[in-house]
Parts: sequence; C-alpha cells; structure tokens
Amino acid sequence: LFVSFEGGDGAGKSTQSRLLAQWLTGLGREVVLTREPGGTELGRTLRDAVLHGGHVDARTEALLYATDRAHHVASLVRPALARGAVVVTDRYLDSSVAYQGSGRDLGADEVERLNLWATDGLLPAVTVLLDLDPALGRTRLTGAPDRLEREGDDFHTRTRRAFLGRAAADPARWLVLDATRPAEELAAAVRARVAVSLGV
Ligand code: C5P
Repeated sequence: LFVSFEGGDGAGKSTQSRLLAQWLTGLGREVVLTREPGGTELGRTLRDAVLHGGHVDARTEALLYATDRAHHVASLVRPALARGAVVVTDRYLDSSVAYQGSGRDLGADEVERLNLWATDGLLPAVTVLLDLDPALGRTRLTGAPDRLEREGDDFHTRTRRAFLGRAAADPARWLVLDATRPAEELAAAVRARVAVSLGV
C-alpha cells in the first residue's frame, strides 16, 4: 500500500506521516517512512541544490524535483511495495503539480505528465491532504526559511487551491483534512481511511 501526505508548509505532514507509520508498525506491518524531496542519497543532494542552491528557473526546478522522484520511486518505493511493505511518503507527485504546475505557472497538466513519466505512472492508493491557510502554516514553521518559504502569499494560495482542486477531482484517492484540528484527531481520521484500504 502506498500512502502520501500533501499540503502546504507547516501543515503537519511529517508529524502525521510519523504517527501513521508508528501505528502500522504496531500492527506488525513493514513500513517504509520516506519523504520528497530527499528520500534517497541522490535525493538529498538534489534537495539541497533546489532548496538552498542558487536561483534556478521554474523548468529546471520542476525537472530537479522530477529527477528526485524518479530515483526515489525506482530505488526505494517500488522495491518496498513489491515486497509487501507499506510506503508512507511526506510529499509526492501532487506537490509538484501544485507547486511547480500551479504555483510557478508551468501548467498542472504538463507537470503531471512529466511526473507520471518519471514514476512510470505510480500513484498512491491514498493521499491525505492536510489543508491549511498558508498564513497559518507560515507561523508554524521554525528555523530559517528556505527558498519556497520566502515565496509570497499568492504563490501559496495558488498551490493550496491546486491541492484542493485535485482532491475534489479524485475523492477515491484523496482524504482532505482540516490541518487546524488536533493532531490526535487527524491521526485517527488517517488511520480509519488507511484501515479501509488495508482491509483491517
Ligand atoms: O515538505 P518539505 O519541507 O520537505 O519541502 C521543502 C520545500 O520544498 C518546501 O518549502 C516546499 O514548499 C517545497 N517544495 C516545492 N515543490 C515540490 C516539493 C516541495 O516547491 N515539488
């Protein structure tokens, strides 16, 4: 089973992916908890380049994320799924569609095609959207802002709309949750949805 968490910065994706992974481990499942960008060694180099390197244009940025994803899927995600593990990822292809496609105006359809090519068409069975007002997300972040976190409100409003639009178009895959709810309530809602997919 392949599960992804999506949403803006500060929405609680890493907390919720960790809580889900802990629950699945407790059920006796093999769990691979991972993230994009940066789920592999090459990916960590790419993550550092795209988030902390010099300015790159939007197409280059989209290709760097897609490269990270292609390698992540081929070297880690697919092998784990093939041996029956549950893969939980903090961000996946929908982040690129929302950030590079809509945020950066490259076009959602084109960025989706690029990433479906990069992943040979691998989509999660369940995608949890932790939906949050970007202004609120900003206040939840700690540490120095990276390049994306310094983007203006318009950028983050476009990406939020893109996530919500994608979720509305494919309710069988997406679970949309209000990220301002208490973490334990959110975790319970995620568990309920994943339990259905696992048949437990
Ligand atoms: O979620 P995480 O903190 O790992 O993401 C790092 C940064 O990369 C965030 O600011 C996020 O908005 C950005 N990002 C992006 N496009 C992606 C994935 C992440 O702009 N496809």
